[in-house]
Amino acid sequence: DQNTFQAIISHCKEYGFIFQSSEIYDGLSAVYDYGQNGAQLKKNIRDYWWKSMTQLHDNIVGIDAAIFMHPTTWKASGHVDNFSDPMIDNKDSKKRYRVDHLIEAYAATLPEEQGKALVATMEQLEAAQDYAGLKALIEENKIACSVSGTVNWTDVRQFNLMFSTQLGSVTDEASEIYLRPETAQGIFVNFLNVQKTGRMKIPFGIAQVGKAFRNEIVARQFIFRMREFEQMEMQFFIRPGSQKEWYEKWKETRMQWHLSLGIDPAKYRFKNHVKLAHYADAAVDIEFEFPIGFKEVEGIHSRTDFDLKQHQEYSKKKIQYFDTEINQNYVPYVIETSIGLDRMFLLVICAAYAEEDLSTPEKQDSRVVLRLPAKLAPTKLAIFPLTKKDGLPELAQQLMDECKQHFYCFYEEKDAIGKRYRRQDAVGTPFCVTIDHQTKEDGTVTIRHRDTMEQERVPMSEVRNLVLNKIL
Ligand code: ATP
Repeated sequence: DQNTFQAIISHCKEYGFIFQSSEIYDGLSAVYDYGQNGAQLKKNIRDYWWKSMTQLHDNIVGIDAAIFMHPTTWKASGHVDNFSDPMIDNKDSKKRYRVDHLIEAYAATLPEEQGKALVATMEQLEAAQDYAGLKALIEENKIACSVSGTVNWTDVRQFNLMFSTQLGSVTDEASEIYLRPETAQGIFVNFLNVQKTGRMKIPFGIAQVGKAFRNEIVARQFIFRMREFEQMEMQFFIRPGSQKEWYEKWKETRMQWHLSLGIDPAKYRFKNHVKLAHYADAAVDIEFEFPIGFKEVEGIHSRTDFDLKQHQEYSKKKIQYFDTEINQNYVPYVIETSIGLDRMFLLVICAAYAEEDLSTPEKQDSRVVLRLPAKLAPTKLAIFPLTKKDGLPELAQQLMDECKQHFYCFYEEKDAIGKRYRRQDAVGTPFCVTIDHQTKEDGTVTIRHRDTMEQERVPMSEVRNLVLNKIL
């Protein structure tokens, strides 16, 4: 629900995960900065994806293409002509809405069947690009502007989502270039470079992580929908005719990746696209149940040979592959898996966030804990000397030195131990170790487990391996 969502947003700020961009200037809409814990968590998610896609697949390699691309790229890909959303302005409030979001929000207030029917009608009109029909639908239902409450709408228009800027010092039309709205095209234009220099044999994939930019018309949804975000995409090149088989394989493989993080499978579902993009012959979303409902985190798209063929036509360069097994030249087909890194971050935080009541008959108590998968947690181990004297800090430092070569550690000697534990719970640190007077006598320490809050005594010399076993 909205309250949980708001609590998570506040938590992200309070514990240094996410800040509004340029906050001291009252922020920039739908743009966010990652703080000290957020940057590390985001990096861990990125690394987890990168390793599973490249290191663990012999036939997938990774690249890092530039954000700026030759402007013809976006003509060829269809983005100049098609990458737009129908939008509508309210004449009184001057607020701009995405037509689908406006109608969906209204449909959610109706009885279920009625709401579904309305959304179905909208999807049909959208697919038919019937903008007058969409406007009529809004007017028939007397859908009002959430700010002014009025129903005074402009016509429905297409709004291109690409940001543009000027390359170099000459400001003419020819120097206009775009910030890439997806990372995929950087892979398509490098298909031959990678295939030839890597001597890749079909089927093979190219993976990439990088920024993408879209001038979204945004409802307030935190990092769910941003104007600057990061995508983790993989394009898998296959023989024409084998797309059904590979599409099913990648659907399955990607769902398994999500489940490998130990997140409740009931929170996931597949949703087939009703309206297929101009390049696709099949497409499905992996949806997750966020506090604001089931929403897309990842798309798996069967992109046919659309993109390579388009680039072949626009660049006038032959983009083909000679398949020695069947002695044939062809333009490969593509299955794409595309996931938003920021959206995955939100998913991970939402799945991990828990408010727990720890009250006993004697005492009221509670905690907020992030039950992050240990391999994703920003800090793996917190090390606390019980007091600041008697040589305990020195022993703690010794453990720090031993462990920080291998994983992120956090050292703290201030405040009561209970308080220190709670702060680590709130940032998702899976293990805390306390060094006390007994450590000086027998070399053992107390290790405390975040999720169960159980504590056990173990030799200090075993701490490093104990943690390593849980995070690899
Ligand atoms: P939506 O329908 O939510 O606008 P989309 O279908 O346009 O998304 P794709 O173009 O398939 O999304 O992009 C692939 C993935 O990139 C999405 O599943 C999502 O995780 C992520 N993504 C897309 N747009 C954004 C955005 N504005 N902010 C954050 N992540 C995004």
